[in-house]
Amino acid sequence: MTATILDGRAVSATILDRVQKDVAEFVAQHDRLPVLATVLVGDDPASHTYVRMKANRCGRVGMQSRRVELDAGITTATLVDRIRDLSADPAVDGILLQHPVPEHIDERAAFEAIAPSKDVDGVTRTSFATMAFDEGGFHSATPGGIMALLDAYDIPLAGKHAVVIGRSPILGKPAGMLLLARDATVTYCHSRTRELADHVRRADVVVAAVGRPALIRGEWIKPGAVVVDAGYADDSGDVEYESAVERASYITPVPGGVGPMTIATLLAQTIRAARHHGSASATNTCEGS
Ligand code: NAP
Repeated sequence: MTATILDGRAVSATILDRVQKDVAEFVAQHDRLPVLATVLVGDDPASHTYVRMKANRCGRVGMQSRRVELDAGITTATLVDRIRDLSADPAVDGILLQHPVPEHIDERAAFEAIAPSKDVDGVTRTSFATMAFDEGGFHSATPGGIMALLDAYDIPLAGKHAVVIGRSPILGKPAGMLLLARDATVTYCHSRTRELADHVRRADVVVAAVGRPALIRGEWIKPGAVVVDAGYADDSGDVEYESAVERASYITPVPGGVGPMTIATLLAQTIRAARHHGSASATNTCEGS
């Protein structure tokens, strides 16, 4: 068996077409552009690339991105103040704090400075709770993107055994919660899990969210399983692709799987936030982005 590719580029393009139409409608109605503020701390090249990609996508769907770049040595208190300013600014619809932030910063405090109504990346406690209670708040962008990708291929989840490897608050943990909300039976694995291979061998759906290239061996994949690889380190995913693709029924490529879905989810949630704010601000003209 050779797996069907879960093509995140193609699915995200469809989502972004929809977002672009929604943005055009929004602009016609409110005479202003939706605005996503991106906050980048420090000079990590990968983070710069991610923020640039997000800003480019904003432009392509007709949104405005406001880039805030801060020195690596900034204190938590100053970062929190800057994010609070954006939270209070009626001209800003969504806020993304690119993570990871430098180690000396209290990342959780910085995330919590994002107003829940602008938390389009789904990183605050409020978003986590609304997600857990299935109350329709903003989803953590990568897990939200994973679910949208699975849905685009009509992959059934109810009653399936999903094994999520990784339990970070922005990726693994919410991915498991969203799968649970769709009636999957969820097992979480993490750095203290024993016999990882045995867990993966029992999975109908594998979600890898670690950041360790080829940690998940192809031979562990149950024939016919669905494999979603969110990991990205040293230009590769967490799953040994060449062997996994021969056993899985569906698999995400890296790159071109989960990554584009994350950005699409972020922008879809930004237009949702903008609609919610409505014409709260008339200060953004429709010139440039
Ligand atoms: P993270 O905060 O470092 O979390 C990594 C998780 O992996 C932790 O829960 C950790 O367990 C677990 N882990 C570490 N070593 C393990 C091992 N040997 N066996 C099993 N589990 C292990 O990272 P993250 O922010 O969740 O990101 C994870 C990966 O996804 C990274 O490669 C990141 O670049 C990628 N990512 C991709 C996107 C995208 O859009 N494609 C978005 C976000 C992140 P403990 O909890 O026990 O420490």
